Parts: sequence; structure tokens; C-alpha cells
Amino acid sequence: QHQVHTDASSIGLAGVLLQKENEDWKPVIYYSRATTDAEKHYHSYELETLAVVESIERFRYYIYGKKIKLITDCNAIKTTMKKRELVPRIARWWLRIQDYDLEIEHRSGQRMAHVDALSRFPVEASHEIETASLRTDKVKISEEDWLFGMQLQDEHTREIVDKIRRGDKATTKDFTLKNGRLFKVVNGRHVWVVPKALRWQVVHNAHDKAGHLGLDKTLQRIGEHMWFARMRNFVKSYIKSCIECAYNKTPGGKKEGELHVGDVEPIPFRTVHVDHLGPFPKSAKRNEHILVIIDAFTRFVVIQ
Ligand SMILES: [Zn+2]
Repeated sequence: QHQVHTDASSIGLAGVLLQKENEDWKPVIYYSRATTDAEKHYHSYELETLAVVESIERFRYYIYGKKIKLITDCNAIKTTMKKRELVPRIARWWLRIQDYDLEIEHRSGQRMAHVDALSRFPVEASHEIETASLRTDKVKISEEDWLFGMQLQDEHTREIVDKIRRGDKATTKDFTLKNGRLFKVVNGRHVWVVPKALRWQVVHNAHDKAGHLGLDKTLQRIGEHMWFARMRNFVKSYIKSCIECAYNKTPGGKKEGELHVGDVEPIPFRTVHVDHLGPFPKSAKRNEHILVIIDAFTRFVVIQ
């Protein structure tokens, strides 16, 4: 069970995500920022709406797809959700969170002291908000929030956490919990346990965004902060499937399939370059090579 509590003042916006644990509501993550100069002139109702939208977006890794109770001390918000005609600016804000399953509850100011304090003493400097944007992926969250959020949703991670809580000796030797976050103990260091759903992204970040390093260097980069089961095999097959690596590798010191590029006549499909790449790990249709055809003039590309 989850609740999001939000509040706003002319000084700042704030929200807190609470999760129920053994009858207690525990804070999972906070969001708070100062208002911009333009926002300071907004109507309080607009600011309250903005606090809701930004908090929901900030917490999305924890709450997406779940039924959330949203608690605000602004009575008007509850009515807005039902209203068909909205000021365009506010309508756009609501659009940003229309995919969330929210139930709104109004609660009076005094009972909201915990969020209220955050909106009056914001912890993040203000940033201009693109009100025209309908994208929900622009709120940056830290890599650690991201890992933690996905750990909470990962069944296998939860199994390990349960074992640790039960004091299972074999598990506590290899894993440890800090504030509910699961770490693997590797040579005395604590590194994040990467949930299944994030493995591809983690390897992608470590390999593609670091200039296509080889297996050992990629593993080393990931291993500085993270771990997951059969990591070596996973990274190995990832790199084997990397098109950029396949294209740039130079067996025997000579680049494979390099073509002589002469003068290009400005006519589409007068000259085409044909090249093949592979072998890659077999696809579902048991294919393992890629055929690339590039038109020399338009640079039109066909990949099969
Ligand atoms: Zn690569």
C-alpha cells in the first residue's frame, strides 16, 4: 500500500511517498524544490497541482502501475480531476500523470505538517518547468533511487531480502541490507544487487556509453558499484551482440569488408555499398548475420 502526500506554498513544492509496513506508514522518498520567480505568482491551487504532478513523476519508479492514494490539503484538486474544462496549463499538468492510478483524498492543513515543512523549506533549488512538455521522463532521479525502486518490485530481490530478515546464515554471508536496499558483499565491499529488469540497461550504460570497452573492462566498470548473478555470461553475450563492436573490430589488423569509395555520382542508387556483419548470437529465426546496403549518394540504409 502506498500514499503520496503533497503540499505547496509560494516558496516551494513538496511531496512524500509513504509505504505501509506492519501497520506503520514509513517514508520511502521525499521530493521538494523551491518555486521559480514566475511560479511565486501562481494561484495556490496551481501550485498545489504542480506539487502533485511533480511528486508523482519523481516517484514513478516506485508507484507506476500501483494503486496510489494521493493526499493533499487542497480541496480544489479533488474537483479538478473530475472537471472537463480546465485552464490549458493545468490540463497539461494533469495529462502528464494521467497514466497513474490515483485516488485523491483531501486532508486539512494541520494533519499535513510533515510535508508542509518541506514545501516551506525546499531542499532543491528551483528549475524552470516546461509546461508544454507532455513527457514524463524528464525528471531525473539518481541511479540509486532507480536501483532501489526496481529492487522493490523484483521478486528475486525480495526473496533474498526475506532470507536475510529471517537470519538465513548462507544468505547473510553473501548479501547485506542497508535501509531496505540489498547489497552483495564482494571482497568485503558492498555493491548494489541489480534486479533482472535493469540488467540490460546497466550493461548498456557501462559498455555503449563508455566507448565500447571489451569484456573485462566492461565487467570492471559495472563491478565497481553493482553485481548480478551470472554477470560475466550476460555481459559476454551482450558484447557479442553489439553491432557497433562487430562493425569496428579488425580481425587480422585489417578492417573487414572495407570498400573503395570513389567519386559519387549525385544519382540515388547509382552506387550502393554492400557489407555483411556477424556472426551474432542466433536470432529467434536462427539468423546470425546482418546484410547492410547503403546508397552512396543519399546514404539511404537497408539492413536485413
Ligand atoms: Zn560495443
